[in-house]
Amino acid sequence: MIASFGTDEVKSQYMDQLVMGELLASYCLTEPGSGSDAASLKTKAVLDGDEYVLNGSKMFISGAGETDVLVVMARTGEEGPKGISAFVVPADAAGVIYGKAEEKMGWNAQPTRLITFEDVRIPAANLMGKEGEGFKFAMQGLDGGRINIATCSIGTAQQALNTAKEYMQERQQFGKPLAAFQALQFKIADMNTELVAARQMVRLAAFKLDSNDPEKTTYCAMAKRFATDVGTKVCDDALQIHGGYGYIKEYPLERHLRDVRVHQILEGTNEIMRVIIARRILAEGAASVL
Ligand SMILES: Cc1cc2nc3c(=O)[nH]c(=O)nc-3n(C[C@H](O)[C@H](O)[C@H](O)COP(=O)(O)OP(=O)(O)OC[C@H]3O[C@@H](n4cnc5c(N)ncnc54)[C@H](O)[C@@H]3O)c2cc1C
Repeated sequence: MIASFGTDEVKSQYMDQLVMGELLASYCLTEPGSGSDAASLKTKAVLDGDEYVLNGSKMFISGAGETDVLVVMARTGEEGPKGISAFVVPADAAGVIYGKAEEKMGWNAQPTRLITFEDVRIPAANLMGKEGEGFKFAMQGLDGGRINIATCSIGTAQQALNTAKEYMQERQQFGKPLAAFQALQFKIADMNTELVAARQMVRLAAFKLDSNDPEKTTYCAMAKRFATDVGTKVCDDALQIHGGYGYIKEYPLERHLRDVRVHQILEGTNEIMRVIIARRILAEGAASVL
């Protein structure tokens, strides 16, 4: 988002280091009262001379407290999406207050925190694009974010499948390896088939995003919905193949399942993915095959 929509000042300040991974950034859209209905957000930014003053709070922010830059969506105008602008905020600016790291079911490699903004002053040059364009930028950022989350699910599910395959070949019951039981053969066949389908769908969506296809948003939503549902199912099946050992922490399966579960929720829930897809299919004048 910074590369595409930031001013030259902001780009020269942050971009090289962000691209090198020397700085990390957080994406701040969700609020305590506005999740799926993101366009109802209440955080305010008011222009005061050559600075904006931010007040409000952002919920569930990935990496918050450990990152260097915050991309914050805040209201500068009317109610609804057209009154929202996007800002680049230094993570250590005066008045940026971090809540406790949330205790989560999984995804513990990074913290998730509430951020409160109390009279946070930032240069006017930290506005991305023009006032009122922020929601559009935020939604465009989510297209790529959805490919990212879908890919996390596929990678984790592939590892769970690999672990289950080895376990089926090693573990003996009824005098045979588990791999000899057709019920489990069929299970792992379905796991692999669905995972390949999900991976192909993510690659197709990524291609449409890269080539700026008019249906890129629909494809990113379909790929995110499908890959995260398949990823969660494959991890659950891999745990089941491990029997009781899958449920204990000595094995990685329970962690894989806890880690992928959140992919069905963040970057827009899978219900919201269906809202996006259905809206496009049923739009007036939509092609019969998208
Ligand atoms: C670990 C984690 C990290 C996150 N990281 C970030 C981050 O870095 N930045 C950020 O901005 N946000 C982040 N989020 C927030 C995440 O995007 C939201 O949790 C998500 O968008 C859902 O919002 P909500 O939790 O308020 O649920 P709600 O919007 O309250 O939804 C509750 C339920 O109702 C369903 N629902 C809502 N509206 C509809 C509808 N119209 N039709 C059908 N069903 C509906 C939802 O699908 C869900 O099942 C993160 C969340 C988590 C858990």
